Amino acid sequence: MANVTLRNVRKTYQGGFEAIKGVNVDVGDGQFCVLVGPSGCGKSTLLRMVAGLETVTGGEIDIGGRVVNQVEPADRDIAMVFQNYALYPHMSVFNNMAYGLRNRGMAEAEIKTRVEQAARVLELSAMLERKPRQLSGGQRQRVAMGRAIVRQPKVFLFDEPLSNLDAKLRIAMRVEIRKLQRRLNTTSIYVTHDQLEAMTLADVLVVMNGGQVEQVGNPLAIYEKPATTFVASFIGAPPMNLMSTRPEEIKSQLGGSADGVGILGIRPEDFLITDETPAGGVALPLTVEAIERVGAETFVYGSREQDDQRVAATPGELPPGEVIVRIPGTEAPAIGARIRVAAVRAK
Ligand code: ATP
Repeated sequence: MANVTLRNVRKTYQGGFEAIKGVNVDVGDGQFCVLVGPSGCGKSTLLRMVAGLETVTGGEIDIGGRVVNQVEPADRDIAMVFQNYALYPHMSVFNNMAYGLRNRGMAEAEIKTRVEQAARVLELSAMLERKPRQLSGGQRQRVAMGRAIVRQPKVFLFDEPLSNLDAKLRIAMRVEIRKLQRRLNTTSIYVTHDQLEAMTLADVLVVMNGGQVEQVGNPLAIYEKPATTFVASFIGAPPMNLMSTRPEEIKSQLGGSADGVGILGIRPEDFLITDETPAGGVALPLTVEAIERVGAETFVYGSREQDDQRVAATPGELPPGEVIVRIPGTEAPAIGARIRVAAVRAK
């Protein structure tokens, strides 16, 4: 069993900067956990602490039932895949994959078996004699993964492994990584700032901000029920529309609690252009400011009435007064048109 448990983990860098402010996360055996958040939120720091590349200044990191705070990286039974692949340019693919095993003094026959098996899984069998420069970016990335796989570690750690690839290859490799992880069933922790990558890969999604965890859970559950306005605006593209609502409005239109000013979050896809107000829903008059036609869908950027002020800015949210509505790609209202949109679902 290789659960990874972080208990109140803290990191203060030399100089006093507190990069991780007490993080609790539990990754079950065989689960794929993704740490996501904006640049500087501390996700790489946290991953590097699990790897043992960074000291822990508070709390405990537990891998497979053993607290590893004081254990050397090489003795943690983990394998890490980096963003820059870190392949040896002068070595063949086979030797790149074999390198770590030879260092551990493994018998050549066993090394050969493991490398060939990993190469089959990664579809690299025909390329074992090539040098890294004779490979495409995606193939190099697979060699980097092969090097982790042959170790047969308890835990894989991925630090933005796809960020050097072009958009199309990123998507292809994302699918590959997911398939591979399902097949090998190895506990994995994966760092990315790309919320779409995070959503599609994670069993457990950890949304971080400012050295803290904002929300942990199943990606779709987080998408459906973001716990904070930060999560609401970070997960989903374009972001969720956030609006302040008057208490009486919440009461009459949504049936929610009536104390204080509420924040209403509505996803772009939950709006419809309609003159009707659905029972229990909300309706807004909008002036169309801009449209984006991306093929399967059209995004409408509308401005709201003056008196309908929004909440104070949170990172990534829309400018005051703007609402984004997603409609089918076959539709496109005119710029300047006055439309009315309504939504039933609200968070
Ligand atoms: P990115 O997506 O940009 O890589 P991140 O979420 O991975 O960001 P970290 O690299 O973990 O962020 O950095 C978290 C914070 O800690 C940042 O504010 C960074 O400036 C700071 N930091 C990182 N390394 C050090 C260091 N060695 N000394 C002091 N501060 C550091």
